[in-house]
Amino acid sequence: MNSLKFADANSSFNDAKFVILGAPFDLTSSFRTGSRFAPNRVREASYNFETYLMEHDIDLADVPFHDAGNIDECGNVDEMIDGVEEAVKKILPKFPILIGGEHSLTTGAVKPFRDISVVFIDAHLDFRNEYLGIKNSHACVSRRVSEIVGVENVFSIGVRSFSKEEKNDAEKLGLKYFSSFDVKEKGIENIIRNLNLKEKVYLSLDMDGIDPAFAPGVGNPEPFGLTPNDVVKCIKMLKKRLVGFDVVEVCPPHDNGNTSLLGARIIRDLIGCTEKTYE
Ligand code: MN
Ligand code: MN
Repeated sequence: MNSLKFADANSSFNDAKFVILGAPFDLTSSFRTGSRFAPNRVREASYNFETYLMEHDIDLADVPFHDAGNIDECGNVDEMIDGVEEAVKKILPKFPILIGGEHSLTTGAVKPFRDISVVFIDAHLDFRNEYLGIKNSHACVSRRVSEIVGVENVFSIGVRSFSKEEKNDAEKLGLKYFSSFDVKEKGIENIIRNLNLKEKVYLSLDMDGIDPAFAPGVGNPEPFGLTPNDVVKCIKMLKKRLVGFDVVEVCPPHDNGNTSLLGARIIRDLIGCTEKTYE
């Protein structure tokens, strides 16, 4: 049992509108490992902030949300994905907020939903069919998710790193993605406004989508990234559609503390932003 709770998650499970769940798993991570420590580090960082959110005029102390702790330890990635799927099934129709761990958890998180779009913020396309022989590697998550929800319902924003093969597959299969250079040039609002989204949207935030200047503690840092403001603008624009959210790939052993803080702050922003619109 995990006794460390996300700050202000004072509600019981039954009374909660939002439920936080950690998935401390990083066994498929390739370059820097350590995202398994992130759920608890992000929880610790959440105590830095005021309960009142100035920009939403909402006090999180008044919002019913619950921290369900972490999923049980898993021996392999398939077990982790099944564990996340089962846990999210139990959370719905409450709003699940997952803290990774590595990005592969999103495959389990989206499975219980029907008829959704999935928006990724990520430096990477994550569209490999398999990586180092593992189909559920974090490097394959948008590929697996597009098999679940349909490739036409997946959008990846902030991308600036992929293999030639991923690019060819994305073109062949019709994965829509927008680079961080597109975001810089057109503005994130213009990009989001023109997405052909379903009524319900699941948002998956790989923290490496944000520039390493703001989010240095990630497994695979990539320069030329999004700003934290791009991310909160994206949340604001999607708020009426959002039904689920994850923050993944924070890597505390390589962090100066800022990445956990930013992850925690974005979770708080998302709760404040969707509190009035999520039924
Ligand atoms: Mn990434
Ligand atoms: Mn990713």
